[in-house]
Amino acid sequence: MSQIKSTAPSIFERSVPGRRAWLPPAPQFDTSRALDAIPESMRRAEPPALPEVSQLDMVRHFNTLAARNMGIDTTFYPLGSCTMKLNPWINETMATWPAFTALHPAAMDDARDCALLRVLHDLSQWLAALAGFDAVTLQPAAGAHGELTALMMIQKMLCERGETERRTVLIPDTAHGTNPASAARCGFRVKAVKSGDDGLVDLDSLRGLVGPDTAALMITNPNTLGLFEKNIEEICRIVHGAGGQVYLDGANFNAVVGVTRPGDWGADVMHINLHKTFSTPHGGGGPGAGPVCVKGHLEPYLPKPVIAERGGEIVFDHDRPHSIGKIHGWHGNVAVAVRAWAYIRSLGGEGLRRVAQMAVLNANYLRAKVAEFLPIPHGKPCMHEFVASGKPLRAHGVKTLDLAKALIDEGFHPPTIYFPLVVDEALMIEPTESESRETLDAFADTLRALCERATTDPDSITSAPQRAPVTRVDEATAARVPCLCWLPPESE
Ligand SMILES: *Cc1c(COP(=O)(O)O)cnc(C)c1O
Repeated sequence: MSQIKSTAPSIFERSVPGRRAWLPPAPQFDTSRALDAIPESMRRAEPPALPEVSQLDMVRHFNTLAARNMGIDTTFYPLGSCTMKLNPWINETMATWPAFTALHPAAMDDARDCALLRVLHDLSQWLAALAGFDAVTLQPAAGAHGELTALMMIQKMLCERGETERRTVLIPDTAHGTNPASAARCGFRVKAVKSGDDGLVDLDSLRGLVGPDTAALMITNPNTLGLFEKNIEEICRIVHGAGGQVYLDGANFNAVVGVTRPGDWGADVMHINLHKTFSTPHGGGGPGAGPVCVKGHLEPYLPKPVIAERGGEIVFDHDRPHSIGKIHGWHGNVAVAVRAWAYIRSLGGEGLRRVAQMAVLNANYLRAKVAEFLPIPHGKPCMHEFVASGKPLRAHGVKTLDLAKALIDEGFHPPTIYFPLVVDEALMIEPTESESRETLDAFADTLRALCERATTDPDSITSAPQRAPVTRVDEATAARVPCLCWLPPESE
């Protein structure tokens, strides 16, 4: 394994022999007897080669590393489809309350009416009300996990109905990659539904694909181009007419929460990313939560146990003969649910509606500014995000990737790039409701200046970032052969 220290020796090599941050108290028992219990072959011949540092060295080391991180708490972070918005600290504080953290998950199964059960019950009801569905499971640990859970429920229902020939899942070509992955993982065949020139699902393409083999359509609304699928009711009618289910990917719920309800459009099932719309810090890979909301006909198949009210008490109901079973070791990532509860409770219905309105307003403001210097092939107006194209810069040898890297030097986190696939050299920008007009102006001005510089001094863009702790990294190797631990210099 390669070593981190070789790229950044100054912050990693602080060790001085004999220096200590803390010494543990001497053991109160006879260690030689304890040592006898460890077989010879498993004993260390030498002490471990750990860094020897003072407390201050250690504090500085970790704070220096933290300062190198780019995150929503330090930087505008317009990562499209990810909803990187303010995560109020009060939600963090609540998630650490002993009423939630001191419970052992194994003690929860037959808990009655404790604070956590009430929070989970409230949250389920609020999500059902906001999205327009009848019942909810909070178990899935991410959006993709919610997709898989929902497809397993659809599969079980089709199986019980004897409709096993329904083995195809239809997915628009603008969809997030997790949609086809979840469908394939569940054993379905995947067929792509074409988008029209307007970036919306092409109804004729859909009509041509539905049939007796259709299990479901997975559709994202607003879609990943940031456009509202205005034909969503007709789309649901077409799929239902062929006997299929409509799965709504609700990762972009932030654009419509409190304004309109996917359940009312005709969707049968939907997942919500609590870590996107309902304020849990994300970006480092979790934990998140992807609750699934269902209409009544899918309710019997929900993962068990479900949270139920019995004679005024909130309990877990395990008696669920049609359930797909458990899809999480315990009850889901409950700290994420507590944050979402606090977020909804503090904003209320009116506040949530304003979240969606401001997210859409901010995106349209930024869209109009960016449209002055980059093509935006679809959508005017947009919803919570828009997709610009870096294609004109190619004439100067500059790719969208280079533009994204150059933004890092200017102190901005890059937007999502090269997704969705239907836009050449895509830059997918989602500002969210949290950002001020000044921040949006600064970002647009910077992006404009970089686009201009790409025509006069392209090398300065293609060699960026120069000011970041690491410059161009080999992303494929970083993902496939990750270097996750520090190794002492001796083992070089
Ligand atoms: C983020 C996202 C997902 C997947 O959610 P995860 O929590 O990352 O698994 C699915 N669909 C869309 C449209 C998304 O933006």
